[in-house]
Amino acid sequence: MATIAWIGLGNMGSRMSAHLIAAGHTVLGVDPSAAALEQAVAAGVTPAASVAEAVAAADAVITMLPKGEHVRRVYEGPDGVWEHAQQGAVLFDSSTVDIETSQWCHTGSAERGFAFVDAPVSGGTAGASDGTLAFMLGGAPQHVERVRELIGPMAGNVFATGGPTTGIAAKIVNNMMLFIAQQASAEGSQLALQLGLDPQVFWDVVSASSGRSWAQQTWYPVPGIVERAAANQNFDATFSADLARKDIGLAVRAGADTGVSLPGAHAAMAQLDRLIDEGLGHKDSSLVVKYSSPDGTV
Ligand code: NAD
Repeated sequence: MATIAWIGLGNMGSRMSAHLIAAGHTVLGVDPSAAALEQAVAAGVTPAASVAEAVAAADAVITMLPKGEHVRRVYEGPDGVWEHAQQGAVLFDSSTVDIETSQWCHTGSAERGFAFVDAPVSGGTAGASDGTLAFMLGGAPQHVERVRELIGPMAGNVFATGGPTTGIAAKIVNNMMLFIAQQASAEGSQLALQLGLDPQVFWDVVSASSGRSWAQQTWYPVPGIVERAAANQNFDATFSADLARKDIGLAVRAGADTGVSLPGAHAAMAQLDRLIDEGLGHKDSSLVVKYSSPDGTV
């Protein structure tokens, strides 16, 4: 059994780390949010006072943080992962970050003799709870195999996507498609209601028809249809609008860098920006549905 340092115990990290504990590993957890750490400790995480303390004792270091800037902060500096991790430890980042940050992690780790893998995930909090996440692993094959062995209890599907940063590239494109599909689900749900369709009947029709998508199946934005959707919890975030905007922004930037036209991504991003401008960035991203409702209510 391994000792694993887990940095970032929010919506995803808390649920994912619970599977490693259930599999018999020791998880040393760090999170500046007292509430997040307390919840994780209740689920079996051993609290560590700092990143330095957690990684010094670890065979593997996993980061599950909001953005690239958080990952950089945790890795660099006198209190960071690179300074305190054991030489033989494998390091991997499951956060959704920009490609530059992921490359920075690969380069900095290689320079210091560490194995690093970009290891983003897909499947939402439901997939994290159920241990069925899809992992996309980018890095040297021998490092990828070490990560594959560890993530088994959290994973449904594991893809070795290629060399450094290919995992994060796959994730960025996947999430762009997700948030375009979410926008379609928001618009479709409201148009169906206005055309007099019963929401359950319409959802059943789409589930068996060509409008079906993961967003429609998992995050349907009408209360009473999909049990674990945020629509049934006052749109409290399972995937916040802030993080969704971050993700689709990464795709839009990649499109600009590569000359790929992304009108659908721009349209979906504009709706997320409206939520953020209203001070609702902390709410679930599926709340974009309110802009399709004729009276703005959901
Ligand atoms: P979250 O905001 O719920 O959790 C992030 C946690 O990181 C918070 O608890 C925060 O306090 C902690 N944190 C911030 N700075 C830290 C630091 N320096 N050291 C330790 N902890 C720190 O976010 P989340 O929903 O768990 O998402 C995490 C990452 O996974 C994001 O990059 C997100 O885009 C990605 N992701 C999210 C989902 C989802 O459905 N929520 C799905 C797939 C991927």
